[in-house]
Amino acid sequence: MKKILITGAMGQLGSELTTALRAQYGTDNVIGTDIRRPDESSPLLAGPFEILDVLDGKTMGEIVKKEKVDTIIHLAALLSATAERNPKFAWDINMGGLVNALEVAREFNTQFFTPSSIGAFGPSTPKKNTPQDTIQRPTTIYGVTKVAGELLCDYYFEKFGVDTRGVRFPGLIGYVTPPGGGTTDYAVDIYYDALKKGSYESYIDKGTFMDMMYMPDALDAIIQLMEADPSKLIHRNAFNISAMSFDPEMIAAEIGKHIPGFKMSYNVDPVRQGIANNWPDNIDYSAAIAEWGFKTNYNLETMTADMLEKLRIKLGITDR
Ligand code: NAD
Repeated sequence: MKKILITGAMGQLGSELTTALRAQYGTDNVIGTDIRRPDESSPLLAGPFEILDVLDGKTMGEIVKKEKVDTIIHLAALLSATAERNPKFAWDINMGGLVNALEVAREFNTQFFTPSSIGAFGPSTPKKNTPQDTIQRPTTIYGVTKVAGELLCDYYFEKFGVDTRGVRFPGLIGYVTPPGGGTTDYAVDIYYDALKKGSYESYIDKGTFMDMMYMPDALDAIIQLMEADPSKLIHRNAFNISAMSFDPEMIAAEIGKHIPGFKMSYNVDPVRQGIANNWPDNIDYSAAIAEWGFKTNYNLETMTADMLEKLRIKLGITDR
């Protein structure tokens, strides 16, 4: 990766990835793009930034050509809960944007990364220790676009030789940018409310286990996979990866160790609970370890300590 273009760079993942890649590959070598423009104070404007709608493949191609981009990281998408409110629009953005980005990668011979998700699994998928290669019959529009996207990335590699790579991210937890409407967002919101109010009302029910990962580990995983020796990759796209699996009671208990008296209550949202019920409890990520040395540094305990420390500073909270 020498000259990188990121789509959806203002999102929860993109905002942190842009900064991390600029630190690694040089500020001028990472072009952030999004359909929105960041505030003037945003770190995203510390380097090159362009307005780009991923449905505009022509402009995408022009930027890639002009800037001699050799790597496209395609993040722009509608997430699970948002997508369910407007399925046709979600299909258009998630598939239309991906096809455009893959076409530009093919035309200009760039490396290509795009994330899939644990949302690519469904009710007939084995829920425990979910294998890398298994039944995928998701029942959300988000899942449908993610499975189709996984297959399309494989196709562009097989058919056109595009160097496509990707992972299935679990729920991502970070303190820099709020999440964009996924089913696992509760595991971010809970830290904010714990510090601001000393309590949290969860829309996901107790006993609902989902895979999660702290943002620094997600950023490392992208760099690790993109730098991996291609001759070792048996799979290319949609590697299962995860750092931890917990339910709301477990994260609440961990937060309670830092904020005595923290109270958890439940007001279950049927839509997001329904989505979560059809996702794995915990996935098997041995293929990622074997093929490109995937590893993580954070578990629930160390992530919670770090999240609370960083959020106290961000929110200026000194009394909890
Ligand atoms: P997000 O919702 O926070 O950000 C998405 C960004 O895409 C936003 O900044 C939005 O403005 C932009 N965007 C929307 N429509 C666009 C368009 N037409 N053109 C250009 N930009 C557009 O999402 P995120 O959490 O950063 O997710 C990034 C990727 O990672 C997505 O593909 C998502 O499916 C995947 N993923 C995320 C998670 C997670 O927990 N955050 C988990 C699994 C997979």
